[in-house]
Amino acid sequence: MIDSHCHLADKQFDTDLDDVLVRAKDAGVTQVITIADTIAEAEKCVQIAEKYDQVFATVGVHPHEAKSWQRGDSERIKAMISSSKKVVAIGEIGLDYHYNHSPQGDQRAVFLEQLTLAHELSLPAVIHCREAVEDIRRIVEEVEPLQLVIHCCTEKWDNISWAVERGYFLSFTGIATYPKSTDIHHTIKKCPISQLLIETDSPYLAPIPHRGKRNEPAFVAEVLKCVAHLKGISMEEADRVTTENTVEFFRLC
Ligand SMILES: [Zn+2]
Ligand SMILES: [Zn+2]
Repeated sequence: MIDSHCHLADKQFDTDLDDVLVRAKDAGVTQVITIADTIAEAEKCVQIAEKYDQVFATVGVHPHEAKSWQRGDSERIKAMISSSKKVVAIGEIGLDYHYNHSPQGDQRAVFLEQLTLAHELSLPAVIHCREAVEDIRRIVEEVEPLQLVIHCCTEKWDNISWAVERGYFLSFTGIATYPKSTDIHHTIKKCPISQLLIETDSPYLAPIPHRGKRNEPAFVAEVLKCVAHLKGISMEEADRVTTENTVEFFRLC
């Protein structure tokens, strides 16, 4: 199993990251991708990835933080990518029109700039998309990046099938384990397993039976169980395929 998206640089992991990673290993999680939200957090993600063999990092600025984007941030991102072999993607980047923590125009400009960078560097992109799927689609079709994943996918299948048709990936979190997530269950059933990743997005979004607690990479097993159930395949088969997908997507080695 691989947790394809978590936030190990979050303050909530500052005191016990060693233990968190031991528990992940004990649960069968062989690799973990730690995702950045800001330039400062990206630096911390790279440090964590350099420290732990099984951890890889992404670098990028979240749409919530688009308002703090500065000239030169693209260069800072490029410098981090060339400084470490453990940086495997640009992310998370995208649009969030639910919270609108940054003006939508800023979000679109910062997303376009970073997605273009991913395209130029032939790196995969990790996309955050909330109530903004039409603008995400428009910008993705304009840039045509090599590879991307719509992380924490909560979209109805008809709204997101375009991404799968273009060869992109969908990634699912513990939200899929909640009984009321019927649209997500339908999307998981429709998404080819060859284009499906699993993640925790920890420390947020803990799956059942851990709901309400701090989430952590070990709990990705609950997401895997849910996907296997919805696909009507064994845990072993779901594990094998999603692990292969993640290794291929991020070109882990
Ligand atoms: Zn996100
Ligand atoms: Zn995230």
